[in-house]
Amino acid sequence: MSKAIGIDLGTTYSAVSVMNETGKTEILDNQDGDKLTPSVVFFQSFDGKDEPLVGIQAKNLAAMQPENVVQYVKRQMGDPNWRFDSLNDISYSAEEISAIILRRLKDGAENALGEEVTDAVITVPAYFDDARRTATKQAGEMAGLNVLRVLNEPTAAALAYGVQNSKKETVLVYDLGGGTFDVTLMKIEDGNFNVLGTDGDRNLGGFDFDNALAMLISEKMEANGAKDVIIDPNFAGKLREQSEAAKRALTTVDKTNVFLDYNGKAYKINITREEFEKATTSLVERTQEILEDVINEAGVDWSEIDHVLLVGGSTRMPMIQRTLEQSLGRTIQYSINPDEAVAIGAAIQATLESLKNGDYVSEEVSKIAAQIKVSDVTSQALGVIATSSETGKEINSVIIPRNAKVPSKYTELFSTSVANQKSVNIQVTQGDDEDPVFVTIIGECELELPGNWAKGSTIKITFHYDIDQTVFVEVHDEYDKLIGQFEVERAANMNKQDLLISSRKIKELSID
Ligand code: ADP
Ligand code: MG
Repeated sequence: MSKAIGIDLGTTYSAVSVMNETGKTEILDNQDGDKLTPSVVFFQSFDGKDEPLVGIQAKNLAAMQPENVVQYVKRQMGDPNWRFDSLNDISYSAEEISAIILRRLKDGAENALGEEVTDAVITVPAYFDDARRTATKQAGEMAGLNVLRVLNEPTAAALAYGVQNSKKETVLVYDLGGGTFDVTLMKIEDGNFNVLGTDGDRNLGGFDFDNALAMLISEKMEANGAKDVIIDPNFAGKLREQSEAAKRALTTVDKTNVFLDYNGKAYKINITREEFEKATTSLVERTQEILEDVINEAGVDWSEIDHVLLVGGSTRMPMIQRTLEQSLGRTIQYSINPDEAVAIGAAIQATLESLKNGDYVSEEVSKIAAQIKVSDVTSQALGVIATSSETGKEINSVIIPRNAKVPSKYTELFSTSVANQKSVNIQVTQGDDEDPVFVTIIGECELELPGNWAKGSTIKITFHYDIDQTVFVEVHDEYDKLIGQFEVERAANMNKQDLLISSRKIKELSID
């Protein structure tokens, strides 16, 4: 039986982890010998065929040939209108691009383990809605993976940090990655990872710190006689690359030199950590504001937070740790690499899933697994549009609340609004706002009624929500006689036929 892997499919970097026979998790080296793989795809063309490059090589080419490169595709997941067209005029969806990255990760894992890999757990941000979760799962399937589960990143981080064993704890996961900032407050109780609140900025991450540093460097170059550095498009890629490298250096040293050639002249720019921190104060303040909001909205006090978990490569920056410790009023434990925690948690979950499926795992591993319990909860409320009997206005009536355990089944009672009503239109919503304007209609079905009911007759609407995030709707009359049923087909996701076609397309690609 081959091992099940955990995959952190990140906006900027991805990682793969596995649990070995002794119950220890490790991050697998990729084909380039690195633990992290940039989530970047570069489209090479040979004989009219696309041959995508994934990872560090693709990232290195990004500055030179941006038109052939796809980055940050995670932001586009679940958006059926997003496309990337290669030089050969082949069009790719966000799922397909992600599948290319996942294929590379799968191949790398097989290399590292020396055996075939099919089973995997893939992580997603807590705020991902069902469409984006399904898109992620489908990307995995296209890559030839059997996706055991799509797992919340903060839950994965908590598993990696080992906080799941305790009885009842409030955990704050602070995730500052390459292109996004996510903060999630969770209550962990008896294996239930309940999200009390989650928010973030989808456009705030390490990238912005690179930009701030690039600005600082170009100002210093201009002070040394260079002209129009920051607006020179031919220099932007190089400048960004050097800025990121300098930023990483400043995490461990308090000053560094950046060497750059610009318009035939060599520049040596000295940057101190103090200057860098000053230039990025507003970015750190922004994360603090979001963080305070999440904590306040959840009605939790800083003193009630049992653990603060640092996730994302950007939390390595000393000012992030310092600022958080100031808010918390105590020191934070840094026991795991912040850019590996999510993948490690995914590997733990992958092992739990294998065990559940009856696959053989070693005695040590089953002992460890016996102590861990993770229940999935719904990320968003699901309901129907109903007419309020008091106001006559349309409202969103929640049937399955947010954070309900999955799988789940909930029934709500409604009543017909007129006598002899011929049919009932069921509009399935996602979101918990009462105002239909602020929720998404994810499916709709018109069901016929017998047509001879009195006004106010009972209609029972039941939602079944399963682990695969499919929603199944049943409608019964007051005597529990079935009137109709349907599965919600999500318009944002691919249907089975298209999924098959895409799977073939990805399978036939030669990916390096
Ligand atoms: P993702 O957003 O894909 O989850 P990561 O969590 O891997 O990404 O974070 C990537 C970001 O972390 C990049 O912006 C990278 O520059 C930054 N980073 C990684 N190591 C360091 C470091 N030592 N110091 C500062 N930033 C770092
Ligand atoms: Mg991440």
